[in-house]
Amino acid sequence: MHNKTMAELSAGLKAGEFSSEELTRSYLERIENLDGDINSYITVTPELALQQAREADKRIAAGNADALTGVPLAHKDIFCTDGVRTSSGSKMLDNFIAPYDATVVSRFKQAGVVTLGKTNMDEFAMGSSNETSFYGAVKNPWNTDTVPGGSSGGSAAAVAARLAPAATGTDTGGSIRQPAALVGITGLKPTYGRVSRYGMIAFASSLDQAGPMTRSAEDAALMMNVMAGFDQRDSTSLQREVPDYTADLDKDLKGLKIGLPKEYFGEGLDAGVAKAVEAAIEEYKKLGAEVVEISLPNTGLSVPTYYVVAPAECSSNLSRFDGVRFGYRCEDPVDLEDLYKRSRGEGFGDEVKRRILVGTYALSAGYYDAYYLKAQKLRRLISDDFNQAFEKVDVIMGPTSPTTAFNIGERSDDPVSMYLSDIYTIAANLAGLPGMSVPAGFANGMPVGLQIIGNYFDEGRLLNVAHQFQQATDWHQRAPVAYA
Ligand code: GLN
Repeated sequence: MHNKTMAELSAGLKAGEFSSEELTRSYLERIENLDGDINSYITVTPELALQQAREADKRIAAGNADALTGVPLAHKDIFCTDGVRTSSGSKMLDNFIAPYDATVVSRFKQAGVVTLGKTNMDEFAMGSSNETSFYGAVKNPWNTDTVPGGSSGGSAAAVAARLAPAATGTDTGGSIRQPAALVGITGLKPTYGRVSRYGMIAFASSLDQAGPMTRSAEDAALMMNVMAGFDQRDSTSLQREVPDYTADLDKDLKGLKIGLPKEYFGEGLDAGVAKAVEAAIEEYKKLGAEVVEISLPNTGLSVPTYYVVAPAECSSNLSRFDGVRFGYRCEDPVDLEDLYKRSRGEGFGDEVKRRILVGTYALSAGYYDAYYLKAQKLRRLISDDFNQAFEKVDVIMGPTSPTTAFNIGERSDDPVSMYLSDIYTIAANLAGLPGMSVPAGFANGMPVGLQIIGNYFDEGRLLNVAHQFQQATDWHQRAPVAYA
């Protein structure tokens, strides 16, 4: 059962081959037996899961099931879940039981989807390796000496190790796509504003976006059908019709125009990754696509721009964690200042503190124009590059990550080399564009992801382009031996 996609599980449930309760129990058992080595979950919720599964079984029997009713799912521990600890990977929120559901969570509940638990993540989603989590590093199921990527590393590892059929993730600078690439699964970051951010613990509000992490593009489409849509409780959520994301999956790709940015194939790209990505592009040519070289001249500015904008927004968002209202509070504060200082000093990890310091500096009087305002101008240039490219091409392709999974500890003392892990993914967040990562082969014995970036609201096309590739290849079906 654990090798089936969500679409296959849904069909099996409806045909009565197994019940949601049986399916849920088998996943809970796998988590119990196998997650010790991987550490992909922070909290497992067996009672809640089984109760939801029994309700789903009733709904299926009554003939009023939705597409994903009874199928299990794991949520990144950044989404508030009513009555369940929601830690955002931080000691600061280790004792925080959310009093309400994030919109993403409540939409899945309404659809009858079963919640297995909450997945591990970099602290407050800051990281590219899942090593900054208060709950310890997550291991890559393909090789447990290596990282699964981050910040949605727990979701990625859980799906790759078949400890959940799929999971939710969030992507501020690459945190869905990069871990998806490093563990060989499918990940989609939607257009900014497409999925509600309500109840999703904020990191950088103008960049954060939730999306699906799945085994296949078809599953990502099924999840998008549940997740996407306007929410009056998120002021940046867009009022725009939601298409059926499965509708175009089977369209052929004849005449599709693929742009290959020359800046995405230069220095710093691992030769094995380049080879796998080039082979994937050849496959697209066989499927009828045309390939043109394009240029995104401001690519080199995206990492520095992001590392002003994201820390600035994080320094403002994380000011709410003050030891007063909720979350961690230090022992025996002598006065209010001591309470603030020690609660924040003891509650946050090093990477989070680094970001708060950088962001507060960039926003301070005298430096605001030089850093924050400048970064906003560069952000416009980066997004103009894409607008020009999309006048000529339908989608943009390249590698998701410059390398395959690196060793645990290898980059943790060198923030800049860690930040460069997202060199190909960050620009889509700065521009607000949708992007996907699709399994596209192996290099150095580890999975490689192909990135597909689309124009605003073109998720349907991205899913079609990814699905057609998955009909022609079987990279997305490969599983790490120990978890197959
Ligand atoms: N790795 C990037 C960072 O550390 C992106 C994280 C994310 O997308 N949440 O900020």
